Amino acid sequence: MKIRFKIKKLETFTNTYVSAVKLTMFDDSTGWGQMSTYCSDITCDIFHRQIAPHAIGVSFGSFDELEELILRKEHKFPGSYLLRALAGLDTALWDWLGKIKGLPVVTLIGGNPGKIRAYGSSMKRDITPQEEARRLCNLRDKFGFTAFKFRIGSECGNGKDEWEGRTEEIIKAVPKALGTGVEKLVDANSCYLHADAIEIGKKLIDNDICHFEEPCPYWLPEETKKVTDSIPIDVTGGEQDCDLRIWQDLINRKITDIFQPDIMYMGGLTRCLKVAKMANDSNMPCTPHAANLSLVTICTMHFLKAIPNAGKYLELSIEGEDYYPWQIDLFDNDPFKVSDGECTVPDSPGWGVQFNKKWLDKSHYRVFED
Ligand SMILES: [Mg+2]
Repeated sequence: MKIRFKIKKLETFTNTYVSAVKLTMFDDSTGWGQMSTYCSDITCDIFHRQIAPHAIGVSFGSFDELEELILRKEHKFPGSYLLRALAGLDTALWDWLGKIKGLPVVTLIGGNPGKIRAYGSSMKRDITPQEEARRLCNLRDKFGFTAFKFRIGSECGNGKDEWEGRTEEIIKAVPKALGTGVEKLVDANSCYLHADAIEIGKKLIDNDICHFEEPCPYWLPEETKKVTDSIPIDVTGGEQDCDLRIWQDLINRKITDIFQPDIMYMGGLTRCLKVAKMANDSNMPCTPHAANLSLVTICTMHFLKAIPNAGKYLELSIEGEDYYPWQIDLFDNDPFKVSDGECTVPDSPGWGVQFNKKWLDKSHYRVFED
């Protein structure tokens, strides 16, 4: 007979940026997860109103079974916030399973812990091309990064540049400074319509850039498709998409060359693995979005070390306290250490990380129990 499980208690530790989740089963075994970042106080309300009541005391045989049940109960809310909250439950369940089995999550899903190549991912647009080139070269020399991503255009900017001439300048200056032997990626964050994107794409090729992320508004896949079909370098995208029906459509129509689901926006590892499988069934790679140093990047490390169609590298934010003050001291030790351009997926059980007690003590606590 198949073993079934029941959750006894769900506790949340929240501020406006992050919400950590502690799950306790009826046998008192525990696991830790996290909801998606930003407006996490709102996400946490949804967790306590629309996730926890359907999860507590319910017998389930698989994470998928429990999550399907929750999504069916809340089928009038097929949106991002519900999934951002569901990610807290799902990632806590995977940590719990790893801990009771004494295995890292990567092993539970068919991979092995160890080194993973990372690309240094810049989040800044208010930085000059010269400054960006300087800091990426410093990081290359200090940590051995072999790939970097930087920003072009302006975010959802209707074709406008962050300031006049910045894009033209940065797509020359950064690759020139980084030199050969380092892969160069850019992200336009939904800035351009296809005609402008194709013109920029040609310049990216001239400057040895291999990855053009979200060239067009993500909600206009036909625009993106024209870019994908016109330029030979990889066009990538998908970070905002969290509906499996949309994912199937993006993959069927090969809207981009590489797909970038975000594990937390997707509702957790379980649903993100479904996207990876859909992409794999079409022989297409998956290089997830992971834009900050919270649990999303840890989960992405485990994911990439296990799926057969993993892209070339892990997205690793290079931003520190000035840009992401809220991510400081979230975990004990530093799970994001880089050497020779690689991070390490640890072999300790579950996600292999521990939320920092001082951070937890400062957060807003809530509990939902049977
Ligand atoms: Mg992006």
